[in-house]
Amino acid sequence: MKLADLEPGQTGVVTKILGHGAFRKRVMEMGFVRGREVKVILNAPLQDPVKYSLMGYEVSLRRAEAQLIAVETLDEWDKHEDKSLHIHSIKDSGEDHNSVRKDRIINIALIGNPNCGKTSIFNIVSGAHEHVGNYAGVTVGAKEGSMFYKGYRFNIVDLPGTYSLSAYSPEELYVMRYLKDETPDVIVNVVVASNLERNLYLTTELIDMNRSMVIALNMFDELERKHAKLEYETLGKMLGVPIVPTKASSGWGIDKLLDTVIEVYELQSPDTRHIHIRMRPEVEKGVATLNDIFKKDISITQKFSPRYLAIKMLERDPEVEHMLEDNPNFSKFCEIRDQENSKIEQALGDDSNSIIAAEKYGFIQGALAETLKNGDPQVEASTKIIDAFVTNKLFGFPIFLLIMWLMFWATFQIGAYPMEWIEKLVSWISTLIGSLMADGPFKDLLLDGIIGGVGGVIVFLPNILILYAFISFMEDSGYMARVAFIMDKLMHKMGLHGKSFIPLVMGFGCNVPAIMSTRIIESRSSRLITILINPFISCSARIPIYILLAGAFFPQYGAWIFTGLYVLGIIVAVFTAKLLRKFWFKEDETPFVMELPPYRMPTAKATFRNMWAKAKQYINKMGGLILIASIVIWALSYFPRYESEQVPQSFYDQTISDLPHSTLEKYSDEEIQKLVLKNYQQENSILGHIGKFCEPIVRPLDFNWKICCSLLAGSAAKEVVVSTLGVLYVGDDDAELLSERLRTPSKLTGQPPFTPAIALAFMVFVLLYFPCIATLSAIARETGSWKYSLFSICYNTSLAWIFAFITYNIACRV
Ligand code: GDP
Ligand code: MG
Repeated sequence: MKLADLEPGQTGVVTKILGHGAFRKRVMEMGFVRGREVKVILNAPLQDPVKYSLMGYEVSLRRAEAQLIAVETLDEWDKHEDKSLHIHSIKDSGEDHNSVRKDRIINIALIGNPNCGKTSIFNIVSGAHEHVGNYAGVTVGAKEGSMFYKGYRFNIVDLPGTYSLSAYSPEELYVMRYLKDETPDVIVNVVVASNLERNLYLTTELIDMNRSMVIALNMFDELERKHAKLEYETLGKMLGVPIVPTKASSGWGIDKLLDTVIEVYELQSPDTRHIHIRMRPEVEKGVATLNDIFKKDISITQKFSPRYLAIKMLERDPEVEHMLEDNPNFSKFCEIRDQENSKIEQALGDDSNSIIAAEKYGFIQGALAETLKNGDPQVEASTKIIDAFVTNKLFGFPIFLLIMWLMFWATFQIGAYPMEWIEKLVSWISTLIGSLMADGPFKDLLLDGIIGGVGGVIVFLPNILILYAFISFMEDSGYMARVAFIMDKLMHKMGLHGKSFIPLVMGFGCNVPAIMSTRIIESRSSRLITILINPFISCSARIPIYILLAGAFFPQYGAWIFTGLYVLGIIVAVFTAKLLRKFWFKEDETPFVMELPPYRMPTAKATFRNMWAKAKQYINKMGGLILIASIVIWALSYFPRYESEQVPQSFYDQTISDLPHSTLEKYSDEEIQKLVLKNYQQENSILGHIGKFCEPIVRPLDFNWKICCSLLAGSAAKEVVVSTLGVLYVGDDDAELLSERLRTPSKLTGQPPFTPAIALAFMVFVLLYFPCIATLSAIARETGSWKYSLFSICYNTSLAWIFAFITYNIACRV
């Protein structure tokens, strides 16, 4: 029988993992090993994937993958298996740490499963504000920080989460290489107290490595809440690694953790000793044979312990093979390894990979059987109840859409109040400067360039913070992982993975970290597609543009226009993904094995810290990139200067003859002269030439040259679109706010620069056209080639043009 054949509510016992390579390895390290009970919890709304529970945590698999896991019912299993799950005693090997260090710098590496609280610990120790989130794969790449404590300098590195140390996913490889190249003084292995069985698997591998180590028993509060009791001191003695309970979200226990790190570093910890995780004699024999060979060669064992290498060789780990490749005896090693492997397979009837995984889990079970008393399972009920709704067949999607709509509604409607206050403040400052300063280029720069540009964008800070609060809540609470779960079937249809949905939702914040977070996706082709469709997900930098235009032309329908634009972005992304899968990246398939962490209420402190970090980032961007861009745009539109005598008579006559009656009636000759000069000035400025040069391309959309300039300027950052409009439409008429200026008929032509139809087409264009520089370079960095950035520029802009053209023509007709 296969796991896929079980119905929700049924329980099976794993007998064998079929399939091969990455999939096999991944499901085994997640705990699907022989003899393990797995319960079917529920199906996703579209029947696929399916949520299972094993070892007290939840994981989702696609049906096709569950088809590769052979199971028996409990009765069948009981009949033929004596239930003694290979539980082992733990034996001291007598080896000891004997290196002595005198320097007072301690390099620490944080290693642990995804989502166990590494970044939270890192933030407390280093005082940083790194991103935390309740789903796998938040930290990409390593982050370093440092602090002084009791006379030591701690250099701490936050590494991406891994389930084991093999070479199958980019993170695992990253952590492996880090341990090889950087050799930290002390490893802090972070484990989740309420999910020890699976978390300790990685610990067993670290123990094999024989490095100085401390275990942080994080989320200790969850253990307490369950009323479970763990004799962690005893467990620490068994493992030969000191264990310190911590609650990283509140900072509890971190001092003790650092004290223990010092103890371990100074070789004064009573609990530290090197143990061997003994496996069955058949396996141990194979390990010993390789171990003895490696031991003799110092060049091999510099980085890793011989036992670790021996076990990894038996597992055929590609990275370890790669490390040993240069050794002159490599072919001999492989030969011996193959011999030993076939001996093991003959004796035990399974390949050594599965046997080693099962043995390690057996060891963990044995250790926990002696030290852990499980508490009240009722406490986990809340996660079950919430999941019954949010992953429900009927409610799952409506709840997701409702949350999205609520997010945009709050961004637009609630954000409008603080936005108004900041707007008032900005216009008050600008009036003040206008009345205090003498006329001249410097005043123009300050008023038109800086306040017109930066001031026009800073007002959107509250809206962006609200959006980030929503995203951060979804990430921290664990809802994001559920979104990936319910979306998997749809994503699968476009050749992607439910996990690809997380970068897409993150893209609502900013495309750059979203593109970086695609590293959680194992398959390269899926990852490339997710990267390339990410710019269609409307980032928060585009919000100012929507708020400006939707607020000016469709004030009652703000949330609807928002939702409409976001949905359009998603549709284009889906369409593009399908296209890419069909014509460019044909190869497919990664297993969908994803942990569904229990819901955790985000702390107010963490949420505020996150928002404050975002606010700071936004303000920095205003003070840096946007300020510079505004000044540059202003200068390009301000120079070269002209005097009224320089305006050619023909230009003058032409402009006057085009002037609408209203203007001629309302203004004096002198004012009209000024107006003509200003117009000549703008049109003949450097920016005017650039804009006029590009204008023909967007003429069919009825965008004028100023709009065209703002779009070009958006390549620096999307907010600059608004600040450029602010600079170019400054003081064109009597209206004070930019939103009013955009809909007031211009004195020159009698036409407003934007009509509702142009505004719609413009928003669609902004949604889809080329990404900003930061995103383009993120694409190049993550894909390893500028080719993909170039593709983005051309493809996205063409689509933007087509969609804007269609929108404009439809909007003009209704
Ligand atoms: P990482 O993936 O290992 O870096 O984990 P994070 O630091 O991003 O944390 C994952 C989630 O667990 C976040 O939602 C944290 O707020 C939460 N968390 C971290 N430490 C604790 C803890 O001690 N107790 C509880 N209840 N939650 C925690
Ligand atoms: Mg992290």
